[in-house]
Amino acid sequence: MDRPPDLPRRRFLHLAGTTVGLAATSACASAARSNGPGARGASGISGPGVPLTVDRTYKPTRFDPWIELDRAAWAHNVREAARLAGGRPILAVVKNNAYGLGDRAVGPMLAGMSQVGGLAAVRVEEALAMREEGVTKPIVVMAEGSEDEIEEMVRHDVLPSVWLDDAPGRLRNVSRRLGRPVPVQLFIDTGMNREGMPYTRARSWIEELVQSQHVDVNGTYTMFTHDLDFDREQHARFEELLGWARGKNLPLGTLHAAPTYELFHLPEAHYDMVRPGNALFGNPPGEEAREMADLRPVFSLKTRVVRVEHLEPGDSAGFNRTFMPDRATWVALLPIGRTDGYPSQANGTCEVLINGRVYPVAGGVNSAHTILDIGPDKTVEVGDVATLIGPDHPAVLPHTVAERTELGFLRIIQSMNPRLPRRVV
Ligand SMILES: *Cc1c(COP(=O)(O)O)cnc(C)c1O
Repeated sequence: MDRPPDLPRRRFLHLAGTTVGLAATSACASAARSNGPGARGASGISGPGVPLTVDRTYKPTRFDPWIELDRAAWAHNVREAARLAGGRPILAVVKNNAYGLGDRAVGPMLAGMSQVGGLAAVRVEEALAMREEGVTKPIVVMAEGSEDEIEEMVRHDVLPSVWLDDAPGRLRNVSRRLGRPVPVQLFIDTGMNREGMPYTRARSWIEELVQSQHVDVNGTYTMFTHDLDFDREQHARFEELLGWARGKNLPLGTLHAAPTYELFHLPEAHYDMVRPGNALFGNPPGEEAREMADLRPVFSLKTRVVRVEHLEPGDSAGFNRTFMPDRATWVALLPIGRTDGYPSQANGTCEVLINGRVYPVAGGVNSAHTILDIGPDKTVEVGDVATLIGPDHPAVLPHTVAERTELGFLRIIQSMNPRLPRRVV
């Protein structure tokens, strides 16, 4: 397949990242000498045009928040998913900016694992970003595209999906522009009525696409509703369609159907490969699934303490005097807030891990600041690393934060600010 002439651009980005990194290192060195919160200004190094991605903006000396991605935990979850799938390859779903955790970091990391056969996104930009980060395995975009979008995907070796009635015509036009058949994935709707060509009128459409000299059907898939009884009905509908295609000698490419829920609960739908997202991100589909696989938290949300102050009874901290202790206590300020993705509902419900101990969020979660109650002893210092979400203590597990804030796991991770640097550890 033709590769786009994007190498010079990638090389340029790489060089730009290196330059920025060097500039920031010396800035941080002098900031470290100045030894205090004044050093914070030095970490604002992400200029326009610099892609926000792994290790390009993260500096070990920063106070500002960052996200750590635990490669070993991701690899563990991938192994668990592959085990549930009986060793079938995984089409790893990293849509929606990798569910908030960062596709430029998560995509290449997952693509580097042998059990992962490819990646699936829902936006063209996501797929192109991951190609730009060096992913060479197949990438499927699980969305319909305009002719221009399909052309751009094919030029970058990304597989578009089609499901609209007029897909054969659009693919013919794109194929003529490119001078070669367009590889596509066929998305069949078996009853969810979200995306997909309705199975009820898919036959002539499939026949036309498979027989078209302008189209190369690379794969065919459906999506389940997660209602197990109806899943079985959907499976039967898909099977009937596949049986018909086999009978007519219409090759449909790689078959896939199972996202996380059906990876766990509908083994007959595992087909040629499985298509989970949530499982890889450490989110099992329900309590009973925790018995079936050991899924681990894959990320941490961290920052550093920028201020520690002593309060006397009568003092207060935060807007509207949110925290009014009736005893002498210490408070610590974290330079992280709602803008970064730490939810305001954490105030009064969540705790933060610093040096092996957890401290309650007490003085509010503002746009960019969070205030902790440290207690009567000054057990925290400026510069200490604070883990707001992570695997190292039950109180800060992603699922604990999700429960205490009543937001749910996906809401928590989808809220992570795309600009937070991602660091694979
Ligand atoms: C989101 C999505 C998936 C992955 O779902 P999970 O529940 O995260 O495993 C798979 N296929 C399609 C079409 C999706 O939209």
